[in-house]
Amino acid sequence: MFADAWPLAVLAILLAWPVPVFLARASWPRRHARAAIALWQAVGIAGGLSLIGAPLAVGVAPLDRHLRTGLVVLWRDAFHLRVPASLGLAQEIALALAAVLTVRLVGVTLLSALRIERDLRRQRDAVDLAAEHADRQLRVLEHAAPAAYCLPGTRPRIVITEGTIAALAPDELEAVLAHERAHARWRHELVVQPFVAWESALPLPPARRATAAVTGLVEMLADDHAARSAGRPALARALVAIGGTAGPVPNQRMNPGAKTAASTSASVPPATPTLDRVQRLLRAATPNLAERLIGPAAWFAAILLVAGPTWYVLR
Ligand SMILES: [Zn+2]
Repeated sequence: MFADAWPLAVLAILLAWPVPVFLARASWPRRHARAAIALWQAVGIAGGLSLIGAPLAVGVAPLDRHLRTGLVVLWRDAFHLRVPASLGLAQEIALALAAVLTVRLVGVTLLSALRIERDLRRQRDAVDLAAEHADRQLRVLEHAAPAAYCLPGTRPRIVITEGTIAALAPDELEAVLAHERAHARWRHELVVQPFVAWESALPLPPARRATAAVTGLVEMLADDHAARSAGRPALARALVAIGGTAGPVPNQRMNPGAKTAASTSASVPPATPTLDRVQRLLRAATPNLAERLIGPAAWFAAILLVAGPTWYVLR
């Protein structure tokens, strides 16, 4: 009865707790931010698949040896408004649990995406009215406090204050703008949003760790982009000068300081403290062979993690 379910259940438990805890503590993602993000995404996708797949497998076990063909039988009966006679109470409870989990995960993800997009649209409209239009994207707010952040979207805005311009040398300002433009160009909010949604759907400590870790990793990606165009020293000096400063709304924005993209949960700690990011920029050493191999290994693990449960469910 549980032949198909237990591997999925074991995987769901591993991906719900120990794997996120282990991954959040690892130091290698600082060198391989993109691969680490892919691995976090794979953990989320495989975790969701196995979390829903395990009760589904229990529910359809009397219908067929395999989950996929069991689901086909269940679907045919449901289409004719019939409950298969071979299903007992335990299977019906398992199927109801799978349905509730599916609706919760998918529903919360969609609602969260809609809410964040609505809030971002309001913020973009507000900043368009209140700020000086320096160019198509850049808005300058008349405020003495230094702050810089990105309001992402299909038509993103980069927002800085006059205090930022006053506080930074030209190369430092260029570094800050490059950082924010990287967020806007690569749509980093789309990377973070699913984790914020999953944290809302399953508010457990590992989910909070995942959101915090991924939020920090997109900051590193934007830092790397800015460092390539403006230089590491300039970006590090800019972070020291304005890092940790808050913009008008802490949520759904990308700030070169403490808080970042779509961190809608107040329980998420500052993902990558400014000092940590400055140290990462200034202490970049040439990686040895083992450190270089971790990146491809993480990509491989991410592919395996998604392909494995998918094959298992569809076989
Ligand atoms: Zn940022």
